[in-house]
Amino acid sequence: MAMQKIVLASNNAKKLKELSALLTPLGIQLIPQGELGVPEAEEPHHTFLENALAKARHAAQLTGLPALADDSGLCVKALGGAPGVQSARYAGEPKSDARNNEKLLAALQGVADRRAHFVSLLVLVRHGEDPQPLVAEGEWHGEIIGDYRGEGGFGYDPLFYVPAEQATAAELDAEVKNRLSHRGQAMARLIERLKQELPAA
Ligand code: IMP
Repeated sequence: MAMQKIVLASNNAKKLKELSALLTPLGIQLIPQGELGVPEAEEPHHTFLENALAKARHAAQLTGLPALADDSGLCVKALGGAPGVQSARYAGEPKSDARNNEKLLAALQGVADRRAHFVSLLVLVRHGEDPQPLVAEGEWHGEIIGDYRGEGGFGYDPLFYVPAEQATAAELDAEVKNRLSHRGQAMARLIERLKQELPAA
């Protein structure tokens, strides 16, 4: 049977790899939007959900294919949910994980409540005007420590400590992180939902 093609509303190679590993067994081929000439969509909204939906809809409208988007970020309790949807650009342009992490440490200087969680919102639209997109959300809870630990992962991982693992996200094996993480949980939920849509194998 021919593979069903879905455009990924991102050019992030790590996301493509993670998501493809899970979707290929379902007969789905993910194509990064850049390969189809789709420019990055604006992400002007206040919620992960709205931004993910805007990205997915944009890619579907321009390609005529179903489209999948992920929007994710870190929410810190004592900062009212910041950096939130601004996570990638918390310390301004150009995007820099190092400067974002320094800014986060400064914002939490002397703050006792270190609770934080990552969020991932996945949205799949069947076409550009789909009135009922498939939506899946995942959360991963931990706390922000005062110093960097670990070399793996990306973004805020070296500051994100997971008590149950007694490790930061940057100290976990990639496979373990993918299983526990916000994105891993959201993907597992989306796949359950997708299986209901696909013809039985
Ligand atoms: P985006 O969804 O690719 O725009 O990612 C948003 C930002 O959230 C990233 O640039 C990171 O700063 C942060 N982020 C999202 N997921 C993770 C993660 O798994 N680890 C660390 N940082 C993350």
